[in-house]
Parts: sequence; structure tokens; C-alpha cells
Amino acid sequence: SEVLRLEALSKSYNIGLPNEAEVLHEIDLVIGRSDFAALVGPSGSGKSTLLNLIGLLDTPSSGELTLLGQATSGMADAGRTTLRGSSIGFVFQFHHLIQAFSALDNVLMPLMLTRGKPDQAAIERARELLAAVGLDTFADTRPNRLSGGQQQRVAIARALITEPALLLADEPTGNLDTRTADEVFELFRRFNRERGCAVLLVTHDPRLSSTCDRTINLVDGRIVSDAMNA
Ligand code: ADP
Ligand code: ADP
Repeated sequence: SEVLRLEALSKSYNIGLPNEAEVLHEIDLVIGRSDFAALVGPSGSGKSTLLNLIGLLDTPSSGELTLLGQATSGMADAGRTTLRGSSIGFVFQFHHLIQAFSALDNVLMPLMLTRGKPDQAAIERARELLAAVGLDTFADTRPNRLSGGQQQRVAIARALITEPALLLADEPTGNLDTRTADEVFELFRRFNRERGCAVLLVTHDPRLSSTCDRTINLVDGRIVSDAMNA
């Protein structure tokens, strides 16, 4: 069963040149419901562009993207926003936590955006997620009092509060030392296993990508290899 299907997905950035710069060329890709996949490739190969398309943050120039059985071409912005909010979790290299909010309120943020004031059940779930990332005693702490690894763990809890079917991460450990990166990576692995969310993450670190179940290699806007790891 699949969470995501890309069919001949292409993307050009309109930068005002006579020939638009096409950075993704007719990408075909299927992500299964329990996949744990790394997206790798040289700088400039289109990884962030692809992740932004998959996360419905940007629209393709052509092709079809089907998320949880819903074809998204021609979908109105409101529909895309709803689908994104209900099915996708994001973790970025720079976590973009809100410094004026406690860790708990940062985790609740995606719910506040879509559903308004969180109820007691949501607050309980946020506390559980903070506990799951080892931060139960830091619920009331502001991000700037936390280490980089702790902040990234808050960002992971935040990405999971909506119980997304697909977790997207762009260089989630790019900013962390090796040991902290390993710990953060292990969290992705655990949530994939225990909560059954598919994970697609961009990483430059071959050590981490080799521990994923699957490696998708993008070069010059084309998938040049896509294989299960041994
Ligand atoms: P973006 O995704 O924002 O287009 P990249 O993913 O290409 O940017 O690169 C993000 C940062 O990682 C850049 O500062 C880049 O210099 C750095 N970077 C690129 N390749 C590597 C690598 N192999 N190892 C470590 N850092 C890298
Ligand atoms: P990666 O994440 O693999 O480093 P990107 O998706 O960031 O690759 O970039 C792929 C190509 O698209 C690069 O040539 C980059 O310069 C170009 N690009 C990325 N974002 C934009 C943009 N907003 N406008 C124009 N060109 C862009």
C-alpha cells in the first residue's frame, strides 16, 4: 500500500529566461506506507525542490502527485493546505521553533494552526510526544534554553503531533554533532517502526543514509538509482 505516488513530475523555476530552468525531469516515484527512505544526491540536484513538492509547499510544472490516494494536480490551495496539514509532518535542518513559546506549545503549534485552541487530549498527546523524545521534564522550557539536539527533538515531536502518514525531513541532522545526529536519527527510525509513518529524509551523511531501508539517488533532477539497502 502506498502513501505517495509521483508520475512524470517536473519542476521549472520561472526565472525570466527564454528557456525556463527545469530542475526536476519527469520523476516517477512511489513511497510505501512503512518506507524508511533516504533521498541523497549532490548539492543542487533538486532534493529540496522535490521535498517541497511532496510536502505540497510548492506546485509542480507538470505531472501528477497523489498523496493518500488523492490526486493533487488542479487541487485548490485550500484543499492542498488541508491535505498537507492532515497527512504530512516536516522537520527541517533549522528547526524554526518559536522562541517565545514553551517546548509544549511549539509541539502544539500545528494543531493550533489548523484546529484552534488545543483541547486536553491534544495537550496530553503533546506531552506524550515530548516524553517519547526524552524531553518530558522540558515541556515548559523555551527553545533557547535547550541544546541543538534537544531543539531538533522538539521539532520532531511537533512534526508528529498531527499523526502524519508521511514524515519529511530536510537535512534533519545537518546541524548536529555525530552522536546527537545518531540519537535524532534513531527517533525517526523508532517512529517509523512504532507509529507506522513513512519517512523520507534528505541527508548528506552516507553513514545515516546507509542505515535507511531504501536509498533514492537524485542527480541533475533525475532519479539515477533507487534501491533497498542490504
Ligand atoms: P539546499 O538543500 O538548501 O539547496 P544543500 O542541501 O545543497 O542546500 O546544502 C545545504 C548545506 O549543506 C549547504 O551549506 C552546503 O554547502 C552543505 N553541504 C553540501 N554538500 C555537503 C556535504 N557533502 N557534506 C556536508 N555538507 C554539505
Ligand atoms: P538540492 O536540495 O539537491 O541542493 P535544490 O532543490 O535546492 O537542490 O536546487 C535544485 C536547482 O534548483 C538548483 O540549480 C537551484 O539553484 C535551483 N533552485 C532552487 N530553488 C530555486 C528558486 N526558488 N528559484 C530558482 N531556482 C531555484
